[in-house]
Amino acid sequence: MQPADRNHRPCPICRRFPDHAEVYLEERIDTSALNSYSFASRKEPERLCFQMVRCPTCDLVYVDSPPSQGELAKAYHSADYDSSEEANDAASSYADAFAKVLGRLAHDSALEIGTGTGVFLEKLSAIGFRHVEGIEPSTAAIAAAPEHRRPWIREGIFVEGDYAPESFDMICCFMTLEHVRDPLEVVESAIRLLRPGGAFLSVTHDYRHPVNRMLGKRSPIVDIEHMQLFSRDSIRALFAQAGYVDIEANAFTNTYALSYWHRLMPLPAGLKRPMGRVLEGLRLNGVKLSINVGNTAAAGFKPKAHA
Ligand SMILES: [Zn+2]
Repeated sequence: MQPADRNHRPCPICRRFPDHAEVYLEERIDTSALNSYSFASRKEPERLCFQMVRCPTCDLVYVDSPPSQGELAKAYHSADYDSSEEANDAASSYADAFAKVLGRLAHDSALEIGTGTGVFLEKLSAIGFRHVEGIEPSTAAIAAAPEHRRPWIREGIFVEGDYAPESFDMICCFMTLEHVRDPLEVVESAIRLLRPGGAFLSVTHDYRHPVNRMLGKRSPIVDIEHMQLFSRDSIRALFAQAGYVDIEANAFTNTYALSYWHRLMPLPAGLKRPMGRVLEGLRLNGVKLSINVGNTAAAGFKPKAHA
């Protein structure tokens, strides 16, 4: 990316330039290592990043000189996609994490922003949502979706004007709020598209979780694709800023195959490859393991209309 494509931005939640923003992560860009996989989700982490600073008011860590929205959109459009089994495991974890919230909602219609192959839409349909739809910028992800899910998925970037106001009971966005240039705009758009009493759900990494703090710069959350990193406090701050009430933000466990945990592990290749062979040899690759990896499941409700 050329320097001309980058500009300075304020905190994406409070919209202020913090007086005393501390540098949270120093920039590490190696253009020769950038490839189309850099922008695919759940890929082998490369741990390159733009400089990130922390807003002391919102507790949000964010890239203060990000590439332009156009550059990001282009990168995602052409991103490769390689994670169908993991996507399925993730969707099951999310359905479990949000079971209580989903139970409180009317089941008329739901929208997923960044739906991938639409695997979570499948879960929503199974629990009784009558109308489900998703928006997804990656052509490769949609091409990988099973035939019966394709009619649910629209290719593109989420734009509020494409939907009728107050037309959804639930809108969700998983592992995506880190990637967008303006997460507040997304949650504000969502609250206008929700019916009163409807809910917005998100899953985000928690940079304050002990796992991520322990790994530091080797954590999978340190990645060039992340424009901001949330803590439980900052995801609450984002929802509150947009007008949501009854906000919850909780840690939960992700269930994935051992082979995937192995791929995420921040180990040198010299150790990682033999470990992979051991897992394969013991036929443990397909074994599922639930771990709290420092992700936050957050939910906020649109206030019910006044009587
Ligand atoms: Zn702020």
